[in-house]
Amino acid sequence: MSSSVEKPTNNEQEKQKVGFVSLGCPKALVDSERILTQLRLDGYDIVPDYDGADVVVVNTCGFIDSAKQESMDAIHEAMQENGKVIVTGCMGKGVDADAIKAAEPGVLSVSGPADYSQVVNAVHEVVPVAEHDPFTDLVPPQGIKLTPRHYAYLKISEGCNHRCTFCIIPAMRGDLVSRPIGDVVEEAKKLVESGVQELLVISQDTSAYGVDTKYKLDFVDGQAIETRMLDLCQELGKLGVWVRLHYVYPYPHVDKVIPLMAEGKILPYLDIPFQHASPRLLKLMKRPGNQEKTLDRIKAWRQICPELVIRSTFIVGFPGETEEDFQMLLDWLEEAQLDRVGCFKYSPVDGATANDLPDHVPEEIKEERWQRFMETQQAISAQRLQQKVGQQLEVLIDAVDEDGAIGRCYADAPEIDGKVYLDGFTDTFAGDALLVTITGADEYDLWAEPVYEDEI
Ligand code: SF4
Repeated sequence: MSSSVEKPTNNEQEKQKVGFVSLGCPKALVDSERILTQLRLDGYDIVPDYDGADVVVVNTCGFIDSAKQESMDAIHEAMQENGKVIVTGCMGKGVDADAIKAAEPGVLSVSGPADYSQVVNAVHEVVPVAEHDPFTDLVPPQGIKLTPRHYAYLKISEGCNHRCTFCIIPAMRGDLVSRPIGDVVEEAKKLVESGVQELLVISQDTSAYGVDTKYKLDFVDGQAIETRMLDLCQELGKLGVWVRLHYVYPYPHVDKVIPLMAEGKILPYLDIPFQHASPRLLKLMKRPGNQEKTLDRIKAWRQICPELVIRSTFIVGFPGETEEDFQMLLDWLEEAQLDRVGCFKYSPVDGATANDLPDHVPEEIKEERWQRFMETQQAISAQRLQQKVGQQLEVLIDAVDEDGAIGRCYADAPEIDGKVYLDGFTDTFAGDALLVTITGADEYDLWAEPVYEDEI
């Protein structure tokens, strides 16, 4: 009698395992999601630790010096703990790539941002995948997401056509390349079908969407639609979920999007990185958008859509900033009454042309201006949040524990804005949408109680 040993099926075979470290902004997170989706489609398992991994991919961030250091530390740790390391992302180009190769000569491959095929090819080369069965190794139609199930980033373009003097993103990610509107809407639909209730539209410059393609026509549900910001907002507004716009520059055509917010099609929320208010400084920064009339535009937008929330970021202590420029910024803030604001002290980034500007501001003056800026804005934010007390708003729950639930309202983007706390309310789950009454506020967050059906 003879016996035979059956060849293990693909699912019984040990799959090759890839460890993944994802650093940086939402745009880098979307790159990680794409790489992970492709690796899963190719039959790899993704594991959360170095030990069990056959190879480790590190997606780096190179935006500012502290982010670069964090990336270098992550590469070093992966080399120590595992030894087979593939590096990609914003540090994978130019002088930063050279620095990585010099510091960690054993790194197997270094590629730039959004270079998905090079990363995936490098993984295949280092650990060839055992044959796999695409029907049993299922990948969800929306791909692998690194965000919670109820929200997702929707990247509409890569790169940027501007050349702001403090920024090296165009050098890292190249000029603007917009995705066809049909592809973007298709991805958004898959995300919504998978349970996503909030789409966060990201890019380097959302207002410029489609400029590079000359607003090329593409097909959405069999209809020819232009690849253009307004058309995209209209299409996303039909999906019945929250749509939040990030990285918008105040070009005149943004005015056309505000009525969609007033009609409740997309969230009345605009993330506009103004960076400064002094025309002289904005010129030195080479910022896009016509800034001179911005205050008038904000006022007009609020007339059309009074609930509009504007978030922004600013840089203080940029080379050449005088006390007069800074005071102009504080006065502008008082008048603009923005809702959410982040502020950075200028710090030179390797390769940025602003490094060559004269009159760098001493550190103690940067610090002092930053403090004054924060005090001014905190008072404004606190006052604006106070106006929400007593209102009924919809919140999306992000987390629930024994102390209560934490959610966000339309005014709060995940990670960067405030939260809405429902203390003591545990009868809910992450991803639930609830109607609440706002009961309290400080300079960042809101407190609320659920509205019960008999109160509506
Ligand atoms: S708009 Fe300016 S800051 Fe933003 S990515 Fe482009 S160059 Fe950088």
